[in-house]
Amino acid sequence: HAKRLGGDRLEAFRPSLRTHGGDALTMEADLRKAIEKEEIRILYQPILSIAENRIAGFEALVRWDHPKRGRVPPQEFISIAERTGLIIPLGLFVLDKTARQLSQWQEEFEQDPPLFASVNVSSRQLIRHDLINDVKSVMSRVDLARGSLKIEVTESLVMENPEYTAKVLIRIKELGASLALDDFGTGYSSLSYLQRFPFDTIKIDQSFVRGDGKERPLLLKTIVGLGRDLGMSVVAEGVETEEQAKELKLLGCDYAQGFHYGQPIPPEEVRRLLDRRQRV
Ligand code: C2E
Ligand code: CA
Ligand code: CA
Ligand code: CA
Repeated sequence: HAKRLGGDRLEAFRPSLRTHGGDALTMEADLRKAIEKEEIRILYQPILSIAENRIAGFEALVRWDHPKRGRVPPQEFISIAERTGLIIPLGLFVLDKTARQLSQWQEEFEQDPPLFASVNVSSRQLIRHDLINDVKSVMSRVDLARGSLKIEVTESLVMENPEYTAKVLIRIKELGASLALDDFGTGYSSLSYLQRFPFDTIKIDQSFVRGDGKERPLLLKTIVGLGRDLGMSVVAEGVETEEQAKELKLLGCDYAQGFHYGQPIPPEEVRRLLDRRQRV
């Protein structure tokens, strides 16, 4: 199939081809080792409060620098991790590490409301494994401001098994975490799910923030208004330009995340960033 495609397209297909066939086994073994040896790193991307123009929190994003293959994109190794069940230890690692990190930052850099951090969760973590227990054990070990650890789930995840998912999410909130609906606007049943699930935050998908369709400004405005009317905070993802930032400010969007404000960075850089900000 891929052979029929010309130069560039074949290049573009190579990463996903690697995950099929025999190679997937090596990748699985490598990934297992990487988790054990903690070769997987977590970077944190700043999320800004638009009204206050300051850092309000971070999203944790995993990175795997493979010794031979170089950086493996998260979408690729997360799908391997999901198929092989490795997502369970990987997910717990990200949750635990991020919670500890956040607790340190909250202690060092006090602000009101306290800094938050959000962690992405896969369907397999939620459905096949007891995410409730993971959150519970992390919360009991780490001292965090209530609601400051946010769990991000996508619309498609929620739709897989809405009844069960609703129960799990309600329990997770009771444990003191908060919930964000990721990639909002890319699924199908957005509106009914917003009502049925106890989300605190919706994250507007990048395609609404950066797209160039004629109806995009109206859609953006509608989503921001919807979030506000439902009492949820709204994060715009993928903000890359000053112009987009200004547009979001005018719309009254609460938070923004994107390369315009900052790339995902390692914890040392986060500390420097918060440090500099405090001295201003
Ligand atoms: P996501 O949750 O939608 O994360 C946002 C993605 O957009 C990140 O890609 C981030 O680096 C990128 N991004 C942020 N700002 C901009 C921008 O201004 N422009 C553009 N073009 N991109 C921007 P990344 O880090 O490659 O992660 C891709 C996806 O991998 C994530 O999408 C998430 O679905 C998944 N992922 C990452 N870390 C984890 C994790 O720890 N667990 C799970 N289950 N999934 C994860
Ligand atoms: Ca996310
Ligand atoms: Ca997203
Ligand atoms: Ca995504």
